[in-house]
Amino acid sequence: MKPEEIDIVVLTHLHWDHVGNVSRFRNAQFIVSREELRFALDPIPCLYLVYESHQLGMQPEFLKVVDRIKTVNMKDKEIAEGVLIIPLPGHSPGSIGVVVETEKGPHVIAGDVVPKYANLKGAPEERLPYLMSGIYTDMLRCGNVLNSLMKSSSMITSGLFPVMTLWFFEKRDTLRIFICIF
Ligand SMILES: [Zn+2]
Repeated sequence: MKPEEIDIVVLTHLHWDHVGNVSRFRNAQFIVSREELRFALDPIPCLYLVYESHQLGMQPEFLKVVDRIKTVNMKDKEIAEGVLIIPLPGHSPGSIGVVVETEKGPHVIAGDVVPKYANLKGAPEERLPYLMSGIYTDMLRCGNVLNSLMKSSSMITSGLFPVMTLWFFEKRDTLRIFICIF
């Protein structure tokens, strides 16, 4: 599969390590939360670097495709049959995740609210059911999101492994939607 065959790219958030090479998806529409785009364009100074901000003289990668970004509100939204965007704020103000219905049940691609699987294992010896990501803009929201993910029966894919998750959907044999989630 080639990048130009991808129809939809979901960007869970706009940190530099989740938007690399977006311009290679020449025919894709990009989905980002409105809150994340707004914040990424004018973050607080201590987060300039993680957004490769123009305030530092850098050019954020996502600006190369900004005319193809479709923003969504921070609430559940189905973007294709069996593919749901959900709000997972805390790691960044507008972080979103994706829930895909599979034969084995719902599967959440959680982005960096769960950066590694070790975050879900927690530290039982310290009575910590999960471990927070080291980067967050709202600790309480991040904790609440992790709490609800831990209580759900969904399978969870972390943000940094695999780096990219690719799902293929075929609908009525005629419409094919390729979705990438970063
Ligand atoms: Zn991040």
